[in-house]
Amino acid sequence: MAETPIPFNKPYLAGRELEYIQQALANGKLSGNGYFTQQSQAFLKSRYGLAHALLTTSGTAALEMAALLIGIQPGDEVIIPSFTFTSTANAFVLRGARVVFGDSLPYHPNLDCSKVADLITSRTRAIVPVHYAGVACDMAPLLELAQRHNLCIVEDAAQGIESAYRGQPLGSIGHLAAFSFHETKNIISGEGGLLAVNDPTFAARAEILWEKGTNRAAFFRGEVARYQWVDIGSSYLPSELIAAYLWGQLQELESIQRRRFEQWQQYQTTLSELAQAGCFELPSLPEYARHNAHIFYLLCPSLQERDKLAQYLSRRQILAVSHYQPLHTSPFYQAQHNGRPLPHAIAYAERLLRLPLYYELDTDSQQRVVQAIYSFYRG
Ligand SMILES: *Cc1c(COP(=O)(O)O)cnc(C)c1O
Repeated sequence: MAETPIPFNKPYLAGRELEYIQQALANGKLSGNGYFTQQSQAFLKSRYGLAHALLTTSGTAALEMAALLIGIQPGDEVIIPSFTFTSTANAFVLRGARVVFGDSLPYHPNLDCSKVADLITSRTRAIVPVHYAGVACDMAPLLELAQRHNLCIVEDAAQGIESAYRGQPLGSIGHLAAFSFHETKNIISGEGGLLAVNDPTFAARAEILWEKGTNRAAFFRGEVARYQWVDIGSSYLPSELIAAYLWGQLQELESIQRRRFEQWQQYQTTLSELAQAGCFELPSLPEYARHNAHIFYLLCPSLQERDKLAQYLSRRQILAVSHYQPLHTSPFYQAQHNGRPLPHAIAYAERLLRLPLYYELDTDSQQRVVQAIYSFYRG
């Protein structure tokens, strides 16, 4: 008998998302910056202690806004990890920046922050740490470098909701930060994101870039008599339909997180025997990081074994997937990389395998994943 497929990820409803979408329609406002946008922004701002928060159409859009706010110019350099999603780099490359790639830590996919100082030149403008799997990068050395060299820190907190660095919420630490509500993240709205503006010098301009270069947001608050074109900008704000869905999710934030932690912990506990036997490594967490159960991954000893395991699971209708191709080896950017070897980024690309983890993953299905992994190693 064919088994039910277990996907890697599945978008879900957690509560009143559909009701709120109907309410948005009833409110007669579907464009951006309405009731649900305001509710979501206020909630995230206060929960994470952000100075300002703007919902965006995606995490990518939030990163693009960050690049505009910093005023990245052609020839500027921006330091990012190689092991990340294209958007981390694209946002800056779109403005003409050269991205300078850092390697991952030996024991975690995150940027090795102790090596970033070596990458700084007179052209460096920003450092963009990516909190992979919702695990904090070591922010203290980066903040010190930023101060010493007058650089901006943009946190790519796309995966970082509810996580913390030494007790401080991710997204509240850098000058700017980007969250994502893409359907693959913990909290979803299909596509969606948030720009956190922690450095108050960027606040007024952020709102203008967000609203197509106009001061419409200030006009809505009655601060100006009419709204005008005052700067460059684009349409970075999401529709109220998106914000309504997001608000439904945010209200269930704690129950969503509780469930993900149970699943994450279940993998950790049930797979530790195989890890102790040397079949693979389980995720390691630095002492300064409180994570958010965003990703559960195995680190296999080699590319060959990782692919064999993935294929074995796939034949059992279980979708486990690798993650990024290091950007310094990508067709688009490899020629612009200066040839420095980044062995840890390559190792994570080859060895990492992510297991199914999503809100509706039930105990039986998760048990099937674990049993299939056991039978791969033990027959
Ligand atoms: C998801 C993600 C993004 C992009 O977010 P979108 O909302 O999909 O645009 C950027 N960086 C990282 C690390 C991500 O995981």
